[in-house]
Amino acid sequence: MCGIVGYIGKKQALPILIQGLRDLEYRGYDSAGVAVLDNGKIERVREIGKVDMLAKKISNVIARSASDEAILPKKETASAYAKASADRSAALAVTLTGTIGIAHTRWATHGAVTEFNAHPHIVDGKLAIVHNGIIENYRELKKQIKDKNFESETDTEVLAKWIMEKYKALSIKYKGEDKANLLIDAVKAALVEVRGTYGLVVLHADHPDQLVAARLGSPLAIGIGEGEYYIASDVTPMLPFTKKVTFLDDGEIALINGDGLKISNLDNQIIEKNVTEIDWDQEKAQKGGFENFMLKEIFDQPTVYEDALRGRLEMDAGTAKMGGLNMSQEQMREIKRVMIIAEGTARHTGLIGKYAFERLANLPTEVDFSSEFRYRDPVVNKSTLVFVISQSGETADTLMAAREAKRKGAVVRGIVNVVGSTIARETGAGTYIHAGPELAVASTKAYTNMVAVLLLYALQFGRLKHTSLATGQRILQSLLEIPEKMNEILKRNNEIKEIAEKYQKYVNILFMGRGVNYPVALEGALKLKEISYIHCEGFAGGEMKHGPLALVSKDVPVVAILTKNQLYEKMKSSIQEVRARGARTFIIASEGDEEAKEVADEIIYVPKTMELLEPLLNTIPLQLFAYHVAVALGRDVDRPRNLAKSVTVE
Ligand code: GLU
Repeated sequence: MCGIVGYIGKKQALPILIQGLRDLEYRGYDSAGVAVLDNGKIERVREIGKVDMLAKKISNVIARSASDEAILPKKETASAYAKASADRSAALAVTLTGTIGIAHTRWATHGAVTEFNAHPHIVDGKLAIVHNGIIENYRELKKQIKDKNFESETDTEVLAKWIMEKYKALSIKYKGEDKANLLIDAVKAALVEVRGTYGLVVLHADHPDQLVAARLGSPLAIGIGEGEYYIASDVTPMLPFTKKVTFLDDGEIALINGDGLKISNLDNQIIEKNVTEIDWDQEKAQKGGFENFMLKEIFDQPTVYEDALRGRLEMDAGTAKMGGLNMSQEQMREIKRVMIIAEGTARHTGLIGKYAFERLANLPTEVDFSSEFRYRDPVVNKSTLVFVISQSGETADTLMAAREAKRKGAVVRGIVNVVGSTIARETGAGTYIHAGPELAVASTKAYTNMVAVLLLYALQFGRLKHTSLATGQRILQSLLEIPEKMNEILKRNNEIKEIAEKYQKYVNILFMGRGVNYPVALEGALKLKEISYIHCEGFAGGEMKHGPLALVSKDVPVVAILTKNQLYEKMKSSIQEVRARGARTFIIASEGDEEAKEVADEIIYVPKTMELLEPLLNTIPLQLFAYHVAVALGRDVDRPRNLAKSVTVE
């Protein structure tokens, strides 16, 4: 998620920080801020919206300070000067000069998009922090913090105050040389008790030659210059200044001071790090070294998927706890029907959700296009739970459908990625999928996290009904094993690329699946058509004989999902039928299934998991397949023609 920049050295920090934020803009964000330390004083400016807005605000306040200076009376009239100067400092007089500072682009997870919630957060005018990630146990920490004056709704400010409490406690104990480690030790003491994810940088007014940076789950790179250091979420901001970079690993914490850079872990063991010479250009760096955002986002999946689960699993009770559901168990039992409303990829996740709700929670579940729902006469009432799903949270049709469902008295919950988006605000309840900014138009990681969230919801309802503790725990266990299995699939990227190159020549490609893999087939077809412009359709295996089989010939290959589940044999027969009509077949099969080769011209194996969870894995080879076909055809995969990322018109 989003961006951190820090600088300590001999240059003015502000221009480096602002340019750094601009370099990280591609990561997506909703507000930005900067803090610079000079003469024992931390000055800060924050603004919602783009970095440009922040820069403009900064030049306004600096200009105002300068012009105030100009109109100050001459020093000879001492009392007038003193008064005017007091007035001036009372006003927003910010110079932001200084050679040490931190900056942030926020992608809100806790608390709306407001200036007060934007980072850096400052405690007691002394300690400033920027943070990416989520502090899961912030509520527990907040209860323990004595200083109850919170300016923001963020988990980050809780962390800042938590560090400050540790700092104060240690500063009583620390004497003489210890003081040099006071700040880093305070951060360590605080982090030991933190659950969640963070990339963070802290500065303290009483340690004007120090920056402390720590990482658990959110990346941080440190650039090493001549007597100066750069810290950032990725190497992009530092590349104009230095190519020498070291990357913090999870659990590591860095102290940068006059003596240089020292990295240790929370157990105080010193860690020797390698310094890497970066030979990327800036554009490539933004994409984390990947050719484009779509590929990066596909590869992000194992990591961001964990963010969708974080803090939501209750292993002992074999259930999930979706905070945003906002319903008592009584109210949950009142729900008689589920409706899932969405468009495109999000609707495909809804179709997977349908299987989960029906199987686990025994709740009749209907899935509809938002654009259809709002123009028919949907039968919903207060015992209908309506999920509206949208990555951007701005999809116009879905928003209107949500309003319509609300008007009819249904219980409406949003499942969205972008915090503070209209659907999130209007539904007032629901869940963030925490996929981080998704920039490629074709959705990949948001899809995966939507599926994860729907599975968790279905499990939570299921455990109130007939799903047993053992089944619940087995599902949770299997959900936790998914990232490792995703990585197994991602390792086959090159194999998939070779297969994809063979399919670029076709004009029509069909996708086929059954059960939970029917929506996977739809998603595979959608991914490929939107970025390659090849005509693709997804079908349910059993439906082929009722029409689509007429399309099949040697010129129309079929991509089929044939993993080992209850519909394996049926699916195999459907594949045999298309092969009998000359179709070339690309098969997604379960690891170890030698028999599947009999019906495959090309085959990719995926690890096994519980049937309901299969879409979390089986979609990934199809995403990569779509990607490589499109690249082979020379398409602009991140920005396909005629499509927009956020569809805010009807
Ligand atoms: N959880 C923090 C917030 O909502 C940090 C979000 C981020 O990664 O930018 O402010």
